[in-house]
Amino acid sequence: MSVVHAVKVPSYDPELVYSAVCRHFEALGVEKDLRPQTRVLLKPNLLYGKKPEAAVTTNPAILKAVIRWLTERGFTNIVVADSSGGLFNAEYMRGVYAASGLNIPGVQEYLNRDFTFGTRNTPPGCAVRSFNLITPVLEADYIINLPKLKTHAMTTVSAGVKNLFGTIPGLQKPDMHRRYPELAGFARMLCELEMTVKPDVTFLDAIDSMEGNGPGGGTVRHTGMTFASRDVFALDVAAVEFMGLDPLEIPHLKAARELGLYPERVEVTGDKPAPCSPAFRLPDAVKSTGFDDAVPKFLRKPTEKVLDALLRSYPHVDRSKCVGCGKCAESCPRKIIKIVDKKASMPRKDCISCFCCQEMCPVHAISVKRGLRGM
Ligand code: SF4
Ligand code: SF4
Repeated sequence: MSVVHAVKVPSYDPELVYSAVCRHFEALGVEKDLRPQTRVLLKPNLLYGKKPEAAVTTNPAILKAVIRWLTERGFTNIVVADSSGGLFNAEYMRGVYAASGLNIPGVQEYLNRDFTFGTRNTPPGCAVRSFNLITPVLEADYIINLPKLKTHAMTTVSAGVKNLFGTIPGLQKPDMHRRYPELAGFARMLCELEMTVKPDVTFLDAIDSMEGNGPGGGTVRHTGMTFASRDVFALDVAAVEFMGLDPLEIPHLKAARELGLYPERVEVTGDKPAPCSPAFRLPDAVKSTGFDDAVPKFLRKPTEKVLDALLRSYPHVDRSKCVGCGKCAESCPRKIIKIVDKKASMPRKDCISCFCCQEMCPVHAISVKRGLRGM
């Protein structure tokens, strides 16, 4: 049985967040894992530079409280590291740190300044042979994964497992999308990444979460919780149930079941929450086809299957909002986006519907439309 510990945290008040960290780490027995020389990596979600209130990134209050917990107990060998959706270099990441509110005492001293990477082989039985990972991950003795609870246009949910995608350096992430263009293969790759990175503890920031068109352009939803577990898959199961969704509808959890990683039983301890009502709004890209009311219940699944075979969700640029920054083109694994007359243009042909472009657009100019596959 896997244990997920939950704490109600009404706001990002520093003392409330610190108290949540103390309760989680006490419940999980984290202190006994650590020695004064242990190199601890804190892995937040820094998708891109965005102010904390936007709920795109892990809130700085979480990082500050975890660092306080560690340093007060004499564990000072700490680094905060992530590779955002853009480049992985000093200049780009300095901008992300600043915009995400991380240049504050108690956090800024620990921000990663090493932008190299290396390779780690996957465990036996994996389809992926090795992953390129950022150096702080390769050097860490102990990894505390600090995701943000969000919906996600490609993977439906971004929580503990999806957060580990940020251990892959910079623009090698779009390359992984190119290598695994189908959702099932991408989901399996995420599970194998988890088996390779192996976070020791995952602590989910669900105080303010994101619903709708996450992970970058959704709506903030105050959910007032944090969750922690030693089993990141169990944490994701608990988080998805908290969102009012079905864990086995989530691609990486389906893949986890096939790989034998899905927890047999998840026990939520602490301040066990009721599922959110209404459930989290899904991204447009993963919403059902909307035929639910028009089709008898017994025909809904087959109808969805037929429509899924014919139709696909594609990104669509609102030219009036597009500022021609080119971030979508930079992140597109297929390199099909062109900037013409300071506006992005994205053909459907060769698009793999990964929505990296939508994820990275700073002005939310990209929406999702359904169309005939490949047309
Ligand atoms: S990222 Fe957004 S604003 Fe920038 S070029 Fe692409 S669509 Fe336009
Ligand atoms: S256009 Fe957007 S959704 Fe299509 S492949 Fe490129 S990044 Fe992915």
